[in-house]
Amino acid sequence: MTLAARIAAARGALPPGVTLVAVSKTQPPAAIREAYAAGQRHFGENYAQEWREKATALADLAELTWHFIGGLQTNKARLLAPRAAYVHTVDRPELARELARRYQAAGATARIFLEVNVGGEARKAGCAPGDAAALLALARSLPGLEPIGLMCLPPAAEDPRPHFRALRALRDRLGLRELSMGMSADWRVAVEEGATFVRLGSAIFGARGRPAP
Ligand SMILES: *Cc1c(COP(=O)(O)O)cnc(C)c1O
Repeated sequence: MTLAARIAAARGALPPGVTLVAVSKTQPPAAIREAYAAGQRHFGENYAQEWREKATALADLAELTWHFIGGLQTNKARLLAPRAAYVHTVDRPELARELARRYQAAGATARIFLEVNVGGEARKAGCAPGDAAALLALARSLPGLEPIGLMCLPPAAEDPRPHFRALRALRDRLGLRELSMGMSADWRVAVEEGATFVRLGSAIFGARGRPAP
């Protein structure tokens, strides 16, 4: 299948209202251009420095919308403003404050998701579910940030469904609109559980580290 065919297949399988974020980490700018030419507009990247270089190389693609979906050191927040329209991985007060400061200084607003560690994993990013309300209150108070939803990465070895369901329930309690959940292996389940943004890498670009089939 060509890249354009994989994009069309993914779009065709998603209900209306679900945004497809094509995760282009490790992909060269040429692959992103090809996806853009096939109509894809939302792209997700994980590494701030790598993303910056690609964003510069692709600055002529006027409708390209960038999503930052990787773990973010607080001192790298400055690299995102103002070009990353969405940040999916806000999980602590210092990061929220620094992003707000940088976006505000750039005269921009970042749409953010709070990343929640739904599995309670010791070494995983994300705030504890019990800390999400306080983090949201902080984010809502900061100019430069527009909190729109919650994001999660369920534990790799577990059934993702209960984790997606828990994230949705938390989203409802907090009065947010969006749910960023679902990757190539589990997006169908995520959509059944109410995902509004799915993040697909290998399903779109092929396995990372070798060319797409
Ligand atoms: C890499 C990545 C994805 C996409 O992963 P695939 O399994 O290739 O679809 C989605 N979300 C995050 C946070 C990622 O790091």
